[in-house]
Amino acid sequence: MNKPIKQHLIDPEICIRCYTCEMTCPVEAIVHNDDNVVVDADKCNFCMDCIPVCPTGSIDEWRVVAEPYSVDEQFDWMELPEQQDLGASEADTGMEALDDAMAQLLADAHKGAGGKAKAPATAAKPSINMHTLGKPATAKVQGNYRLTNDPAHDVRHIILDFGGTPMPVLEGQSIGVIPPGTDENGNPHLPRLYSISSPRDGERPNYNNLSLTVKREEMGLCSNYVCDLKQGDEVQVTGPFGATFLMPDDPEARLLMICTGTGSAPMRAFTMRRQRTTGGKSGGMTMFFGARTEKSLPYFGPLKKVPTSLLDQHLVYSREGTKQYVQDVMREEEDKVAELLNDPKTHIYICGLRGMEEGVELAFTNIAESIGQQWTALRDAMREEGRYHVETY
Ligand code: NAP
Repeated sequence: MNKPIKQHLIDPEICIRCYTCEMTCPVEAIVHNDDNVVVDADKCNFCMDCIPVCPTGSIDEWRVVAEPYSVDEQFDWMELPEQQDLGASEADTGMEALDDAMAQLLADAHKGAGGKAKAPATAAKPSINMHTLGKPATAKVQGNYRLTNDPAHDVRHIILDFGGTPMPVLEGQSIGVIPPGTDENGNPHLPRLYSISSPRDGERPNYNNLSLTVKREEMGLCSNYVCDLKQGDEVQVTGPFGATFLMPDDPEARLLMICTGTGSAPMRAFTMRRQRTTGGKSGGMTMFFGARTEKSLPYFGPLKKVPTSLLDQHLVYSREGTKQYVQDVMREEEDKVAELLNDPKTHIYICGLRGMEEGVELAFTNIAESIGQQWTALRDAMREEGRYHVETY
């Protein structure tokens, strides 16, 4: 069997045959006949130029194959073939195996949902794995701003500009940052995952940029690299990653967001998306956000300016005044949380420290009981409907 390769394909069931991709492809790898628009595996160089121009998302299909599907085979398709089972060892082709490891890392972060997470029914279709370890995107640092006032707690807001390189992202997705240099065995470092904290149209709208929220960890190889970046520096990026921790596009959906520390990154993206689209006229957002102190809470200043009609905020401090965690304040606000749990328009998002899961689950258990519901059954039903999302590290 040949070494498996990743093949770019187009979904014939979704494609509207507008031929925009064919016109965009710089190497003439996309061709069509009377039936289908297809990608010639011998010519495609994975430049990704065709991905953002496709109006339907049908262009963003990939299969790992032992033998690429020919153009003629693809012309005959009514639907895409399933991914072939190549067996783990054969499919592990060096770089691809490492990219898969990144996807696995994110899948592990989502395990707290208690089962396989699903995207909200009205979420936009995400692009994933456009830029790989073998072919990362290069971004330029547009800004690096300190977010916290606590000298012992350095959290940075980093803005990355992708220039002409496509990097279509959705709120809730992550990217990988590859630290420069090599490890003790001389191998390049693996990328580290960071949640995107800006909305889909960018930190600065429509300039193909995004932001990250990164805390400096004392011994952290990548966090120190990212926190020390200067304007104009170039950064190697993989991704985007994540196809389930996404926000519903339904403006009526109600978002219940529970986060700790830099786990607030996706919540900021959700909030900015709503600010730019529906404003206070949406179904509303409720947030329980835990930090050590006010000074170490990322985005404290900007958060204070978000109107309550858009975001009902509960900022919770563990090392200031009475020690409290998010789950304690959820209990204090039992009626509010219970009302949200009872509403089929509610979507729950939990992001941050893995340790918070247990306490938050317990709070939900008690609050659900108060309205005669069994939490795990409710949670599993919500997850199946794409309304329950956890991302913890
Ligand atoms: P942190 O400052 O260490 O902690 C934030 C708050 O959570 C503190 O008040 C902390 O209290 C509290 N906390 C600790 N244990 C808790 C528990 N069992 N239940 C509830 N609250 C608890 O947070 P951080 O250093 O920013 O870390 C955030 C985490 O989010 C990291 O693990 C990071 O990997 C993850 N994350 C980051 C991103 C991102 O984009 N950067 C995205 C997703 C997730 P005390 O310390 O006072 O006990």
